[in-house]
Amino acid sequence: MSSNFSLFDERILKVAIMGLGGYGTRVAEAMQSCKRAKLVGVISGTPSKVENWQGKYNIPDKNCYNYENFDNIKDNADIDAVYVITPNALHHDHVIRAAKAGKHVICEKPMALNAKEGQEMINACQQANVKLLVGYRMHFEPKTLEIVRMRKEGEFGNILFFQGLSGFKIGDPNQWRLNKELAGGGSLMDIGIYAINGARYMVGEEPIWVTAQETKTDKQKFKEGVDETIQFQMGFPSGAVASCLSTYNMNNLDRFFLNGDKGFAELQPSTGYGPIEGKTHLGQLTQAHKTHQTIQMDEMAGIILEGNKPIVPVDGMEALKDLRIIEAIYEACRNGRKIPLQA
Ligand code: NAD
Repeated sequence: MSSNFSLFDERILKVAIMGLGGYGTRVAEAMQSCKRAKLVGVISGTPSKVENWQGKYNIPDKNCYNYENFDNIKDNADIDAVYVITPNALHHDHVIRAAKAGKHVICEKPMALNAKEGQEMINACQQANVKLLVGYRMHFEPKTLEIVRMRKEGEFGNILFFQGLSGFKIGDPNQWRLNKELAGGGSLMDIGIYAINGARYMVGEEPIWVTAQETKTDKQKFKEGVDETIQFQMGFPSGAVASCLSTYNMNNLDRFFLNGDKGFAELQPSTGYGPIEGKTHLGQLTQAHKTHQTIQMDEMAGIILEGNKPIVPVDGMEALKDLRIIEAIYEACRNGRKIPLQA
């Protein structure tokens, strides 16, 4: 290996993926096209998956861990960051352990089950002096960023209204997503979070109140504490309002609409794996589709290694804001009230 190459190599974020399930597999595939991030390690409880990934991605034995021994990753200089892609309830423990091992952490959404856990994860990463980023892939998506740019430049005028519709019809009743212990809730934790987060980056403000209503058509499939469908509304300091739907019981539900007094933006699909499609009052959005996870990981390498600032934040605090809103939505579902939020 030439010295030039090793100099270049130092600027590559070397990542270990934890949790080799559906989304971990998608991220690993997408990372093959990354210029600045590289998959170099795995953490998994399933030896057959590890073997399979080792063959596919040329991962050496010394970079393979399981859930019992992964704290030893602290002694492995070949790994810069751990990407936690396990079920929601495990993120808290997994992120804190990775931070204590001195590794930067990328964690999937929702970052945690509640705001208290989220704050503990932020604290642990601060104490360990490592970065904590959350897998908000839409924050790097070109058509989404064009709308954010237009909104910032006032092209929609004063923002008045946002609508976010996020849902799909969930299958297998035995999966972890329908298990309160592992998921921390139901559709809101998994898919409704896109409408919450989207409302924030599309409107460009933090909500000051939220209220919500829950409906459930199937109490067998969606047990106590696992929401099937929630409608929620949010209000922003400017007076803009948002109306959103989160569900595990409808397909074809992936739409954002932003309305201002000078124009509008519409994305449909708005948060699927793409291509994202959209238009504004000025016409069709034509930014080219790029695999979300590829851009995300290249941009995150820049954030971690160079201290780059993303246009829309992807740090722990950004995720904590979503968790606080999620908690308030669940509270509003229980008591029917309008819950104030700290802007
Ligand atoms: P999955 O079920 O396909 O994979 C989860 C992985 O975690 C599996 O490999 C499983 O073996 C492993 N695991 C470790 N400990 C486990 C335990 N105690 N119980 C169950 N599984 C355990 O799920 P997924 O779809 O890959 O989701 C994982 C995370 O990624 C979730 O937090 C989810 O919200 C997030 N996700 C994000 C996106 C996105 O677009 N950003 C998309 C899908 C999933």
